[in-house]
Amino acid sequence: MHRVGLKQWGFKGNDNLKAAESGITIRGVVNDIKSNLNSSDSRPVIHLGNGDPSSFCGFRTTSIAEDAVEASLRSAKFNGYAPSVGLLPARNADFLFLFYKYRAVAEYLSKDLKDKITSNDVYLTIGSSQAIEVILSVLSCPKANILLPRPGYPMYEAHSAICHLEVRHFDLIPEKDWEVDLDQVENIADENTVAIVIINPGNPCGNVFTYQHSKKIAETARKLGILVIADEVYGHLAFGSNPFEPMGNFGSIAPVITVGSISKRWIVPGWRLGWLVTNDPQGILKKHGIIDSINGFMNISSNPTTLIQGALPQILLRTNDDFFSNIIDILREAANVSYHFIKNIPSITCHNKPEGSMFIMVKIDVSMLDDILDDMEFCTKLANEESVVILPGVAVGLKNWLRISLAIDPESLIEGLGRLKEFCMRHAKKK
Ligand SMILES: *Cc1c(COP(=O)(O)O)cnc(C)c1O
Repeated sequence: MHRVGLKQWGFKGNDNLKAAESGITIRGVVNDIKSNLNSSDSRPVIHLGNGDPSSFCGFRTTSIAEDAVEASLRSAKFNGYAPSVGLLPARNADFLFLFYKYRAVAEYLSKDLKDKITSNDVYLTIGSSQAIEVILSVLSCPKANILLPRPGYPMYEAHSAICHLEVRHFDLIPEKDWEVDLDQVENIADENTVAIVIINPGNPCGNVFTYQHSKKIAETARKLGILVIADEVYGHLAFGSNPFEPMGNFGSIAPVITVGSISKRWIVPGWRLGWLVTNDPQGILKKHGIIDSINGFMNISSNPTTLIQGALPQILLRTNDDFFSNIIDILREAANVSYHFIKNIPSITCHNKPEGSMFIMVKIDVSMLDDILDDMEFCTKLANEESVVILPGVAVGLKNWLRISLAIDPESLIEGLGRLKEFCMRHAKKK
């Protein structure tokens, strides 16, 4: 048979996905920077670009987690498809051992919550990345817009673009410990605004919000009639004066969707186990169909691997405090060392010593540097000349800043900072 009229292939890729292929993801930008590394430099490359310390021996996960996965595998109970998350009544049936894991997440998070959550409030996802995808897809409807922090985590922008959710940015203020500019939030929101995204402890800023500020965010959300999406992937990775306060504690002020995972606190980002949790004692999400939509999405999407699901109760509930406090101590020390070291580099300023997550955000003054136009060129030349990889601020929404990862073995961090200083000195404008 002969088909007429088909002059060319009638398909093309989604333009929003093409954009996500390169420039606008952290991974894409880090890869760009890495492509400038000079292979004839005999020194080891120092990776301060992304936040995955799992390859450093000081950051190995706890043996509790490793043993739990082994036991999960050997039990032969987790070789099947994961049960459907849509079955709400079944998720209440705690005697059903397949559902232990939902209860485990509820129990783990409830330790820090005034309004306890149950397994019904928990959805297991493929890392918090999938939880982000779920909630943005659920909220995207014609004309809807979402408020995202600047600087922020570009996955939110990328997924918003894919599901045609309009993005409006509000600023985090460096001079105020990276607090949210709440006046601006009120100004940019309108009747089509659906949610505000808060990342606490902060990536990329390394800040931890005070109890008061988190409460004010919830109150602003209430005033605007929007929900709060609380990205708590770095939950509990706080080592400064502000203790970590889960946004879920303000769920009675405005409904909160919390996303989290074991990736960062347990340093196993490759295990791909996260969650989406609803903190909504007033039942507003249910009333507005959000819960039905989440269930619908989960029913047609894939689940995290069952081996890790099977291990989850042990991982969440049996890990001892020594493991956590050791990681916290390493990060606190790295934050101290970096902050004081960077203070002595004239062309770089750091407003705040990091108090959480795994990063330090610093500002470069390009006017003090010769032959460097912006942060992108800074990082490109730094990679080429010093074999140090750092993320340029543009990747997280702040031009002429740098995000430096603290999650690396201490010797390499010091070596990397030393090379950074050398680089800045060499490129300093002559008076
Ligand atoms: C790492 C990270 C994520 C994604 O982590 P998962 O491994 O998918 O759980 C989400 N949000 C922020 C702010 C992150 O830094």
